[in-house]
Amino acid sequence: MTVAVVGGGVAGMVAAWELARTSERDVVIFEASDRLGGALAPLRFGSVTLDAGAEAFATRGPEVRDFVEQLGLESLLTDPHPVGAWLQLPHAAGPLPLAGILGIPADPEAEDVRALIGDAAAERAAQDLHAPMRWTAQDRPSVGAVVRDRMGDALADTLVAPITAGVYSAGPDALDLRTVAPGLFETMLTEGSLARAVGAQKGRQEAAAKAGSAVQSLREGSGAWSTCWSGSCSPQGSGSSAVGASRILLRSPTAKTSSSPSTHRRPRTCCRGR
Ligand SMILES: Cc1cc2nc3c(=O)[nH]c(=O)nc-3n(C[C@H](O)[C@H](O)[C@H](O)COP(=O)(O)OP(=O)(O)OC[C@H]3O[C@@H](n4cnc5c(N)ncnc54)[C@H](O)[C@@H]3O)c2cc1C
Repeated sequence: MTVAVVGGGVAGMVAAWELARTSERDVVIFEASDRLGGALAPLRFGSVTLDAGAEAFATRGPEVRDFVEQLGLESLLTDPHPVGAWLQLPHAAGPLPLAGILGIPADPEAEDVRALIGDAAAERAAQDLHAPMRWTAQDRPSVGAVVRDRMGDALADTLVAPITAGVYSAGPDALDLRTVAPGLFETMLTEGSLARAVGAQKGRQEAAAKAGSAVQSLREGSGAWSTCWSGSCSPQGSGSSAVGASRILLRSPTAKTSSSPSTHRRPRTCCRGR
C-alpha cells in the first residue's frame, strides 16, 4: 500500500520520512508549489543564501538533533553566534531581553527591556509584580490578553508581537497562552505575577544564557533540509532532484527485504515530474 502525504513542508516531510522508515509502505508527498520545504525557505541575495523562514531549531529536547543525525547531516550542525538574538524595531534595535518567554521578560525593569520599550512602558510592565491577579484557573486567555493586562500594550506590541509573528505567523491576541507556552499560565496563577512565572519557568541556568542561544542551525541554512529530502540523503545515492516536481516518492527500505522495521534504515528518495 502507498500512503499519500499532502504538503511538502517540514511536517509533511517528517511524517513521510517516518512512515517510509518504520513501515513497509511507500509514501508519496504531493506538494502544490515548485519546491519542498514550505516555511523552510532559502532565499538567494546575490552570492549569499539567507533563510527567509525558519533558520534554527530549539535544542531543549533531542528530537531534531536525532533527526539530523538520522539524515546524515550532523557535519552541518552549527551553533548560533554568541551575540544572541536581536530585535529590529522601527525606532531601535537591541538584544532580545534575557530570560524571556515569547518576548515576555522575567524582569520588566531590566536595562535591556528599558532600552527597547522605554522607561514609561517598563514601569507599566513592572506593575505586574504587585497588581492583584484577576485571572483564574477557569480562564483560557490569549497571550495578548494576559500580557496586555499584566504588562501593558506597549510591551505586548513591541516585545511579544514580533516574536509570535516570527514563530507562529500570528499576533499575540490570536494565540492561546496555554497552547503556545505550556505551564506558564498556571505558574502565573501560583506566582501571582507573569514576570515571576517567566523567571520560574526559564530557571536559573537558562536565565544566565543569552536569549535565542538554546538553538542550533544547519550551516547551509534551511536549503540543506530540502536538498536532502530531494535525493541526496538517499543511501542509494539516487541524487535525483525533486525540486520542481509536484510528487516525491519515498520508498520504504523494508518493503521488499524484511518485515521488521529498522530504526537505522533510511528511506530511498526518488521523484516524479508533474
Ligand atoms: C519567518 C518565519 C521564521 C520562522 N523561524 C523559525 C525558527 O527559527 N525555528 C522554528 O522552529 N520555527 C520557525 N518558524 C516556524 C516554522 O518554519 C514552521 O512552523 C514550519 O516550517 C511549518 O511547517 P509545516 O510543514 O507545518 O507548514 P509549511 O511550511 O507551511 O508547509 C506546508 C506545505 O504544504 C503545501 N500545501 C499547502 N496546501 C497544499 C495542497 N492542498 N496540496 C499540496 N500541497 C499543499 C505548501 O505549499 C507548503 O509547502 C518560522 C516561521 C516563519 C514564517
